[in-house]
Amino acid sequence: MSDPTPILPGSTLGILGSGQLGRMLALAARRMGYRVHVFSPGRDTPAGQVADVEHTAPYEDLDAVARFAAAVDVITLEFENVPAETAAAAAEGAPLRPGANVLHTAQNRLREKTFLQDSGFPVTPFATVRSVGALIEALDTLGCPAVLKTAGFGYDGKGQVRIGSPSEAEQSWAALGEKEAVLERFIDFQQEVSVVAARGLDGRVVHYGVLGNSHVKHVLDVSIAPAALPKALAKEAAEITEGILEQLDAVGVLCVEFFVTGDGELLVNEIAPRPHNSGHLTIDAFVTNQFEQQLRAVCGLPLGSVARIRKAAMANLLGDLWQDGEPNWMAACRFPEVKLHLYGKAEPRPGRKMGHLTAVATSVEEAEETVREARRALRARV
Ligand code: AMP
Repeated sequence: MSDPTPILPGSTLGILGSGQLGRMLALAARRMGYRVHVFSPGRDTPAGQVADVEHTAPYEDLDAVARFAAAVDVITLEFENVPAETAAAAAEGAPLRPGANVLHTAQNRLREKTFLQDSGFPVTPFATVRSVGALIEALDTLGCPAVLKTAGFGYDGKGQVRIGSPSEAEQSWAALGEKEAVLERFIDFQQEVSVVAARGLDGRVVHYGVLGNSHVKHVLDVSIAPAALPKALAKEAAEITEGILEQLDAVGVLCVEFFVTGDGELLVNEIAPRPHNSGHLTIDAFVTNQFEQQLRAVCGLPLGSVARIRKAAMANLLGDLWQDGEPNWMAACRFPEVKLHLYGKAEPRPGRKMGHLTAVATSVEEAEETVREARRALRARV
């Protein structure tokens, strides 16, 4: 287990990556009196805008990484695809939490699925694919439809193709760039859920219950808290998540995404060793949000309460909303139970996560209805 000396307010948190997750983490850290440095190749980034110092250099510039690490007391990350050499260089200057072993597992689907399967956690049936021949064989074993995913650097449905019949093998293999991949059985799921949990330096684990997620074009669209799931299944999802955190010996926040199959079985789809989009609603609806929890965990502070204050729903705001001009912020702000979060991104490209809305209410149904209505109101002409 890592050094238990707590890193107290007034110290400096370093964040590798500078997107919206880094921004919300930086805001939580600044509120608690920490200084924040971020590192990424970008300038005027979502996290850089709210940090004390924005270090701008390529991840491969290990001298710049070393300078960044020397200036901070602890380092965490907001995306798991930080190159291994970067993580190693950072870890030489300050404690890196979660550690390199967690990143190594989580940044490659094949390693991740193998780890989960070998540890006895339920995963979507899969096969390793390194050639078109292996793909044809795997399609024969797993059946169609199936989903082919690149082993490395995939997120939000990027680097994956659905295969409807074995005749599509060659074209699918080519479409993914003939790179090492995982073939998964296509799961005709009832619903998708996630558990966001945190593990402290002392090994204590807390979680926010089960969140219900709906996706559009493979990208998270709406999350609700709590998910509509039988109690026994919710308990099982939480236990699996806790088990994964322990097995990885991870420190920090980790999210496990699950499919709930037609037979009411849980299958792990993927894990993310960091705060997660489905956990954004913890900012407005829980006593301690996932970003503060990440800060507490990596700094060796006691974890905060995960009690839910209100039922909640979150809706992502993608760049597509800007298609006909600036969204109608006034219209959305007329919903008193809706909170607007914008990430400070200048360019609203289609599919780009620009912000989110969270609605709180006394019932999940009401929260979801309100957040969807508020999002629709953003499109109303001024
Ligand atoms: P991923 O990037 O692997 O999380 O995939 C993004 C989304 O694609 C998931 O949240 C699902 O909605 C869908 N998806 C991915 N893999 C599968 C699968 N094996 N079966 C059914 N849907 C899938």
